[in-house]
Amino acid sequence: MRKLARVVEINSLEPILNADLIEVAVVGGWKVVVKKGEYQPGDLAIYIEIDAFLPEGNPLWQFLVDKSSRIYEEVKGHVLRSIKLRGVVSQGLLLPLINDYAAYTLGDDLTDILGISKYEPPIPAQLAGTAKGFFPRAIPKTDQERIQNLADQWDKIASKSYEVTEKLEGSSMTVYLLAGEFGVCSRNLDLKQDENNTLWKVAIEQDLATKMQLAFGDHIALQGELIGEGVQGNIYGIKGHKFLVYDIYNLASGQYLNPESRRLICEKFNINHVPIEQESMDLPPETSMATLVDIANGKSQLNPKVKREGLVFKSLNLTGERTSFKVISNDYLLSEKRK
Ligand code: ATP
Ligand code: MN
Repeated sequence: MRKLARVVEINSLEPILNADLIEVAVVGGWKVVVKKGEYQPGDLAIYIEIDAFLPEGNPLWQFLVDKSSRIYEEVKGHVLRSIKLRGVVSQGLLLPLINDYAAYTLGDDLTDILGISKYEPPIPAQLAGTAKGFFPRAIPKTDQERIQNLADQWDKIASKSYEVTEKLEGSSMTVYLLAGEFGVCSRNLDLKQDENNTLWKVAIEQDLATKMQLAFGDHIALQGELIGEGVQGNIYGIKGHKFLVYDIYNLASGQYLNPESRRLICEKFNINHVPIEQESMDLPPETSMATLVDIANGKSQLNPKVKREGLVFKSLNLTGERTSFKVISNDYLLSEKRK
């Protein structure tokens, strides 16, 4: 679960050119426009991330609800989005750690205490499907951490080599072959077979069970993004649907295939793969987070007329834990007509 609201320390404050009343507060990899002088470096504050749904009634953010609101799960509230003020990107909301909240300390999760939830656009029925069970325990979920939340681990992140793929804006889909059973999962659920469910339909159309059986025998999961009509606004404008793999997980060894083997197998068995931005990108130790946030901006390889959602980085070293994270494009976030 994302800690959508938590106690943070203000790392620094940066001036905004030609602005007397506002400045930028830096919190890890996030930058938020605040009133000038409201915070000093080292101050503790409450930081609320983008995508948070702020229900009406709390005086701390009622001004936002009054400005722009929507109904989510039958409650009126405001969804925090990336915005641009005086030419600078502002992401999230900072609130002073006072009154009822003064007793909390660095790192405390205030998401539930503040009644905040993550805004999720409504899922069309054909994508939602019916659950057969929870997401299989043996397979890792497809979630990716945002680079902005990795500032405190930066020395571990930089100084590695990564495969960089385009992050597609669709729906997470996992198909598995486990002890002879073929299954199809959405982001959080194992889905009942059903020809009206788009994930199942695509898995069958693309003959994934046969391809997986030929390529691996058993104990394997393909993880990828489902895109196309009716999926997250189909920003690529494609006809029908497509499943593009970004991970293959070996359920016998409990490991991901390395990127190169994954790409080779997909090619050999005619399985679509997400677009590759770079097969191997070395990040020297001095790489800044801002550089990576910057290179996430660009056009989609699937449709050069549209901005890509961002990039996903996966470490190439095969020993030990894999490091991976997503870098969402700020250009994309700012341009998005949100569902
Ligand atoms: P949150 O917004 O809370 O961080 P989310 O569900 O919106 O979560 P995303 O921002 O979509 O998550 O990022 C993670 C998802 O990105 C994965 O679940 C996966 O489906 C998707 N994804 C798209 N393209 C790729 C790719 N190239 N490599 C890995 N994951 C990808
Ligand atoms: Mn998403």
